[in-house]
Amino acid sequence: MTPEDFRKHGHELIDMIAEYLEGVAEQRIVPDIDPGDVRAMLPEHPPTEPESWESVMADVERVVVPTITHWQHPNWFAYFPSNTSYPSILGELLSAGLGVQGMSWVTSPACTEIETLMLDWMQELLDLPDRFRSTSEHGGGVIQGSASEAALVAILAARWRATDAAVNADGDTGRLTAYTTSQAHSSVEKGLRIAGIGSDRIRIVDHDDEFAMSPSALAAAVDADVAAGLVPFFVCSTHGTTSSLAFDPTDAVADICAERRIWLHVDAAMSGIAALAPEYRWVNAGVDRADSYATNPHKWMGVNFDCTLFWTADRAALLGALSILPEYLRSQAAESGRAIDYRDWQVPLGRRFRALKLWFTIRLDGVESIRERIRRDVSLTQDLASWVGDDDRFEIVAPHPLNLLCLRLDDGNEATDALIDAVNSAGNSHVTRTVLDGRSALRVSIGARTTEREHVDAFWAELARLTPAAS
Ligand code: PLP
Repeated sequence: MTPEDFRKHGHELIDMIAEYLEGVAEQRIVPDIDPGDVRAMLPEHPPTEPESWESVMADVERVVVPTITHWQHPNWFAYFPSNTSYPSILGELLSAGLGVQGMSWVTSPACTEIETLMLDWMQELLDLPDRFRSTSEHGGGVIQGSASEAALVAILAARWRATDAAVNADGDTGRLTAYTTSQAHSSVEKGLRIAGIGSDRIRIVDHDDEFAMSPSALAAAVDADVAAGLVPFFVCSTHGTTSSLAFDPTDAVADICAERRIWLHVDAAMSGIAALAPEYRWVNAGVDRADSYATNPHKWMGVNFDCTLFWTADRAALLGALSILPEYLRSQAAESGRAIDYRDWQVPLGRRFRALKLWFTIRLDGVESIRERIRRDVSLTQDLASWVGDDDRFEIVAPHPLNLLCLRLDDGNEATDALIDAVNSAGNSHVTRTVLDGRSALRVSIGARTTEREHVDAFWAELARLTPAAS
């Protein structure tokens, strides 16, 4: 491709993206296809000669757009949102265009320093503790690819600290025990497994009727392990669980962790972003006592995937666990102690210039408009909750302080599952099923950028129509 072609097709591509996003409501939200159908629409073997831009774009229109799941659709109520925004898309494009690889300060100073600045901006905007700031004595923040990677690096730092660094030499994790609830995201167990902590060493702590961790159950589990000669080393407290948006009581959990010097990680993957609006700052209660914390602008802030913010108050443990310095990565800047090498804060070596999309979003859309979208989503969820609550066919099965509503039919699991299937099969909106203490529930998660009142009204009308009369 020549530079002239790049300019021309680049403009065409931006037009195509804008048209897609402006018209996304017209798409069938989830394609009606079977596994293998997409591949069958494309040639089995690679081309031997370069093709034209037009033929590639024709396949984008013919094959790609009709067979993706439309996460930006206004009736997207499944999982959690993965919303995006125009400034973020442009920031992503610029990152690809500049093509830098920011593994260390010296490999692209702006990539590192703008990222550090963004973490400090976000610490301020979310009103997180000062001990997470890059200028604090022991803390700092970094962009990870996902909340799963954030949990993993927290576990690795915790493992290093609990073994006084010995794990780096002997790899022995045999006596370490970790704690979370059945409501925590599966990435916590996956991270523990990767770190050599098998399921026999993971304690699933009881939760209360609102799906939040029971501090007394945590204390009892920790005490029993200590009495058995084991070493409690890691607790994950979730702020906004995936199934039902429950909030673990981090303050009380922190008391237990402090007593035994257990690493406390707070996973606030979606909900943490709500703290951009001052009235929702409660979502981060207790975080000032955590060793690490993660939240995802790629869920609810309009920054497209991937962008997880991870802060720690103990960067020495993180660096102890993750820095390895071969000769070819040495630099004067790092050795002077004045520069951050983010490769030591994450699992991979290489890293993209992800801070650009956050920087663009904050500067171009502005924080106030993001706050307004968060408020809108919460308010739409509360309206839906009041309509559901007034209809005696439904039961609301979990507290719903923000933008997730979990409901079920009084008639039981089968009826609830049938309703979920009916909603999704109708193809106008998309919801996810979960199971809460053995009971099926339909999750309605509101957070796509394009969702407005009319979409929630239409969703409610359809839900009410598809629900059988109370028996
Ligand atoms: N933690 C929680 C509470 C989540 O809800 C999710 C995903 O929905 C994750 C972690 C994993 O997020 P990611 O896809 O960023 O790894």
